Amino acid sequence: MDRNVASAADQRSRRGLLIVLSSPSGAGKSTISRMLLGADPEVTMSISATTRPRRPGERDDLDYHFVDNEQFDAMIELGDFVEWAPVFDYRYGTPKAPVKAALKLGRDILFDIDWQGTQQLYAEMGEDLVRIFILPPSMAELERRLRSRGTDSEEVIAFRMQRAASEISHWAEYDYVLVNRDMTTCLEQVQAIVTAERMKRQRQVGLVAFTRDLVAGR
Ligand code: 5GP
Repeated sequence: MDRNVASAADQRSRRGLLIVLSSPSGAGKSTISRMLLGADPEVTMSISATTRPRRPGERDDLDYHFVDNEQFDAMIELGDFVEWAPVFDYRYGTPKAPVKAALKLGRDILFDIDWQGTQQLYAEMGEDLVRIFILPPSMAELERRLRSRGTDSEEVIAFRMQRAASEISHWAEYDYVLVNRDMTTCLEQVQAIVTAERMKRQRQVGLVAFTRDLVAGR
């Protein structure tokens, strides 16, 4: 069978996964997300809306939908978010429509959201959710990584370190917990989780028909 036809059929025969990656900022989550997306064409990134100002190098509508407070209020009012939460001084939310559309197509969606958003997504769509928490190897290494980005002021870094401890306190609410000692190993671990989760019997909706045809010799 043509490879594309086979992979389209595979995608239709299982439910899409909602893969949540949470970690304190600086633990390597964005890099892992980028690498996973580059390596796996079945995964789509969920693009959040935020009231946070754009950092240098960030692209509107690709990294985030950058909106002002009035626009964010309007999106809440219209029920556009599947979850939203205040993080630091700003608000962040996951638009609902792209999630629904991707799931319908049997695609997997990757969310880079905090513990508050994870709890809300779990309440809404728990059975499709795979929750992964990424820990830094130490707080000293986390601080070093935050500084090496060179995008945040001292004050912001101190605040982010404080928030990191509070984010880490939620590790036990996740299905999988990884320590990011090196990016390659951490990516492989995330990919192993995704592969195993796709194989779960309850996610393979095409199994009943497949096994019926299999034993019938069709
Ligand atoms: P940053 O400002 O560094 O891009 O993100 C700050 C924090 O907000 C990160 O922990 C990130 O996971 C979280 N975040 C980003 N988008 C969303 C979202 O749509 N919902 C929630 N709840 N958190 C988000």
